[in-house]
Amino acid sequence: MSRSSVSQAGVRERLLALCERHVGPAASIGAWVAGQAVAGGGSTELALVYPGDGGELLRYRDASPELVGQALQSCARGQAAWAALPAQRRGELLAALGELIKANAESLATLEAISSGKAIKGCRAQLGAVAEIFRYYSGWTDKFGGSVIPVPGGQLNYTLREPLGVVFQIMPWNSPLYLAAWNAAPALAMGNAVLIKPSELTPLTTLALGRLATEAGLPAGVLNVVAGLGQTVGDAAIADPLVKKVVFVGSTQTGRRVSQAAARRPIPCLLELGGKSANIVFADADLDAAARMAVVAAFSNTGQNCVAGSRLLVQRGIYDAFVQRVVREAARYRIGLPLDESADSGPINNAAQYRRVWDMIQLGLREGAELAYGQASPSGQAGFLLGPTVLRHVNNRMRIAREEVFGPVLAAIAFEDEADAIAQANDSEFGLAGAVWTRDVARAHRVAAAVRAGLFWINMYRDMHVSTPFGGVDSSGYGRSSGIEALYEYTQTKSVWVPTAPGA
Ligand code: NAD
Repeated sequence: MSRSSVSQAGVRERLLALCERHVGPAASIGAWVAGQAVAGGGSTELALVYPGDGGELLRYRDASPELVGQALQSCARGQAAWAALPAQRRGELLAALGELIKANAESLATLEAISSGKAIKGCRAQLGAVAEIFRYYSGWTDKFGGSVIPVPGGQLNYTLREPLGVVFQIMPWNSPLYLAAWNAAPALAMGNAVLIKPSELTPLTTLALGRLATEAGLPAGVLNVVAGLGQTVGDAAIADPLVKKVVFVGSTQTGRRVSQAAARRPIPCLLELGGKSANIVFADADLDAAARMAVVAAFSNTGQNCVAGSRLLVQRGIYDAFVQRVVREAARYRIGLPLDESADSGPINNAAQYRRVWDMIQLGLREGAELAYGQASPSGQAGFLLGPTVLRHVNNRMRIAREEVFGPVLAAIAFEDEADAIAQANDSEFGLAGAVWTRDVARAHRVAAAVRAGLFWINMYRDMHVSTPFGGVDSSGYGRSSGIEALYEYTQTKSVWVPTAPGA
């Protein structure tokens, strides 16, 4: 871990200048509605904190229920204008938004790093991906249509793929701008308007996205953003009849509440929830590559990553030696301050999560796991820096192997053979991602087929692209948020009949 290489002095001033440029004057922070920055107007004041030292960056007001209602009405008006545009024009405007994001990438990456704590290197990479998301979906606007169904006779039946209307999207704090773009772009491409509620802890880059959408030429109200608390903004929006679908990315616990609220209307949900993914290493694997990537899988974004390979399943015969390799790799992994150019990952995002990660490490040790690498307790320094932690001799019944930590904690578990590896991988309430490392091609595909997960890698980990489907099973959620499959999530099918027989 490094604290000293980058000075924290001036971070707050830098953030305020970036905010002024990308979001608006500090007094107007809170929402982007109908092409304007608007303060939240709610009764609670919320503080944004710099994860590097725990100091306050700025304050803003939670949203009032009236503002949520206004934002949704503006979305409804924007959606009508958006859906009335030729599909090709919608594509041009989404492509223009991608280009604007590219042109502003460096300052948006810096805003993201300071406000979320993510390391600047990772923020830059994600800004490239955000522009690519809009480029990808800009190409779909005029290529996704209905079909003609060969009905028995004398009639024509065809289907129309229509937008849902207004979609409400609730986002977490771990990759704020990337997740906002990932979820908004396919909805917009299909002619919907979107209201995004970013996490109250990291609203700034999502507000900047709303502003850039207006600058790119999207009609006012097509992409509105309202920052604030889940209970205020979330409850008001889900209950509003203008909202036709809820997309929730966050913890399984909150996902259950959101889907219950949506069920009362009833409206559909897309849920992207937590994970406890198994990264399975057989004795015949390329062990150098597997150890290198085990560390990336577990510690990228300081483990605040829904697809983190937080359970490392290692074949018994190589267990001790392989865990030692992973420890050597972990020692090279640099967790530092957000703007430290040499940091692989930054601090934990917030104080509550920082405490939870330490509690989980200590719980793991009490349960009988051993500390193979890392610290057993916090050093007492300011801020939320927490280095890689490798726990060995974990078994799959321990809570440290069953609950999502959402921090840089790797639980190394031994398995005997292929059947045991699959059984342990599947012995989890979650089903988001997983990986297998082996030189046996047939086994690699057997394991990929047998593990319950929405996403699986063979001899690699973590690579993703917006063109392929993403989503989970079981307590990791349902629905697919990317690729062609997301276009089905954001359209409804209308079946149209017309008699065509002579004389009809
Ligand atoms: P969280 O569940 O605490 O909060 C997520 C969002 O829900 C926030 O915007 C929050 O304000 C809002 N919220 C809270 N209570 C609400 C309520 N009652 N009604 C409506 N909204 C409410 O999650 P978090 O701590 O921000 O994020 C971490 C979690 O997100 C982890 O579990 C992680 O695995 C998950 N995640 C999943 C994916 C995925 O794609 N599967 C991606 C990133 C993060």
